[in-house]
Amino acid sequence: MNNKKCLKAQILSALLLTLVLLITACGGKKPAENETLPPAESSTASVTAAPETTPAESTPAPVRLSFSEKDIHTGDLVLVNSAYPFDFEANADTLDIKNIRENQSFYYQVDKLEFSVAGRILPHLDAMIAACDEAIGTKETGITSAYRTKEYQQGVMEEITAAYGEDYAKKYVATPGYSEHHTGLAVDVGIFYPDGSQGSFSDSQNAVWMRNNCQHFGFVRRYAEDKTAITGISNEAWHFRYVGMPHAFYMTAHNLCLEEYIDFLRAGTSEDEPLTVTCDDGTYDIFFTAEMEIEEPEGMYTVSGNNVDGLIVTVKRE
Ligand SMILES: [Zn+2]
Repeated sequence: MNNKKCLKAQILSALLLTLVLLITACGGKKPAENETLPPAESSTASVTAAPETTPAESTPAPVRLSFSEKDIHTGDLVLVNSAYPFDFEANADTLDIKNIRENQSFYYQVDKLEFSVAGRILPHLDAMIAACDEAIGTKETGITSAYRTKEYQQGVMEEITAAYGEDYAKKYVATPGYSEHHTGLAVDVGIFYPDGSQGSFSDSQNAVWMRNNCQHFGFVRRYAEDKTAITGISNEAWHFRYVGMPHAFYMTAHNLCLEEYIDFLRAGTSEDEPLTVTCDDGTYDIFFTAEMEIEEPEGMYTVSGNNVDGLIVTVKRE
């Protein structure tokens, strides 16, 4: 090798070394595709990559989502009734309670200033109230009850018992710990006149409109007259529960209360045979699983516990 060639080789290896050093200094390896976080909104699943069986440059290995017992008790589809109490501890980190008055996107009445709901349902609640007022042509729709702590529910129970007697209270008021109002996903809707007095929501046009349209905002009328034997709660025209739009669409179209819907999903759906629902914002595949580890669905998805025995996975089709 002559001197010139030797010099060239030296320069080349020096350059190479610099390049290697630079890459190492910048933090080294590029993160693997499967290290990105899932787009789930409500899931608290931990993500683990399945063992890689293919070389890095081909399709990434499927991501496995792992869930824990706690996840069964959180999410938009938790069933809370006299048999299944709300799990305050499991929900402590995700409840995200927001004051309605301070966070509402436009002014509507709330019976008490401290009324709050789970923050994620507030935009849907605002939209439903705005649409109802617009359809009726008044501005009288407001909130007469929202999120309740266990202590608050105890107070409601005592108040109603004192005013109307124990029989009435048992019919309309859930035992503390077993009220859907603990979830932050339920509201009671009322009529508020401009002078601040309240009217009867049950007898209003608003009640009719809301019963027929709440599913477009992800809500269901939770306690209907023909379901009292299943829900254990008497007919309540005013109580609405957020479950998410595709679920609200299916439940409304097939006249299923939440108890029936949870049972239906468990008995009739699986990862391979999901329920397909088309609603205002797209088409969704929905299935129940009792598995605590599932393959990450493709695209946008949410995972909610049913508060009984498993998880409901909702996947939006592209
Ligand atoms: Zn209620």
